[in-house]
Amino acid sequence: MISAKKIIPFFYLAMTFFIFSCGSNPYAKTNKMYKKQAKAYSKELQQLPTPENQKESALDYGDYWVGTTNFNLRKPNYVIIHHTAQDSVRQTLNTFTLPKTQVSSHYVISKNGEIYHMLNDYYRAWHGGVGKWGNNTDLNSSSLGIEIDNNGKEEFTEVQILSLIELLKEIKEKYNIPAENFIGHSDIAPARKVDPNANFPWEHLAQEGFGLWYDESEIEKLKLEAEFFKPNPLIIDLNSRLNTRIPFIDKLVFPEVIPAGFNVEKALRIIGYNTSDLQAAKAAFKLHFIQENLNQPFNSYDLKVLYHLHKKYL
Ligand SMILES: [Zn+2]
Repeated sequence: MISAKKIIPFFYLAMTFFIFSCGSNPYAKTNKMYKKQAKAYSKELQQLPTPENQKESALDYGDYWVGTTNFNLRKPNYVIIHHTAQDSVRQTLNTFTLPKTQVSSHYVISKNGEIYHMLNDYYRAWHGGVGKWGNNTDLNSSSLGIEIDNNGKEEFTEVQILSLIELLKEIKEKYNIPAENFIGHSDIAPARKVDPNANFPWEHLAQEGFGLWYDESEIEKLKLEAEFFKPNPLIIDLNSRLNTRIPFIDKLVFPEVIPAGFNVEKALRIIGYNTSDLQAAKAAFKLHFIQENLNQPFNSYDLKVLYHLHKKYL
């Protein structure tokens, strides 16, 4: 096993060499464009309302202008993780520096664990597209986008994930982002997107504090109502003798029985999924939290995971 700590600086060095040694930086032209755009936005933010610009957006909402002295920049509060579905980092850097593609992300992580920072965290990247999480319908405005170099089907590399975790640690601390706000592109756009793919180590990330996960032993203890009554002769016997159900006995034997009326759609919505296409929302849930038998409908295990997990979001 190669240590990422040893290998990452080497690749940084190699890439710096690649970018700056061949006479000219291949991204010199697009870096210039970045600078120009950033300058234009800075200028826009510096504007104060005057009679001439009263009609411009974000300046014409009041009868009077009185600038406050107390403010700072808005901060990202979500992290959306993607796989690039491309063949190399070079291809992705190219995609994100061509104006006609209209797509970008704040970070790209190569298979070797190199991190490319492509946009200041305070700016809005175009990585989410149409999506919804809870009632948030503009994730691009509130999130950082991280693209991981992966063709869409393959495994993620060990150093790639190590680099990702190092980056997430910094981001989480700097912007004070809650664990449950580290999510995938497929989570916010269930009908459209399937990234990151089922090989993505969400459980490992959750152990590090990025995203939520479930406790396997808790899932094993859970019973669906139908499962509970069937194999429990004591309850059946008592119930039939008394001709009624005794709820407190249920509780004594199995404290967690999933009620027959458990509402899957509501539970998915509590987690954050847009359930306007329920099948797509269920598929996105499976891709993130079950990661196998993706084309099959919810089984009792999937239902238990959802039941257990949705309570963490309440
Ligand atoms: Zn994506």
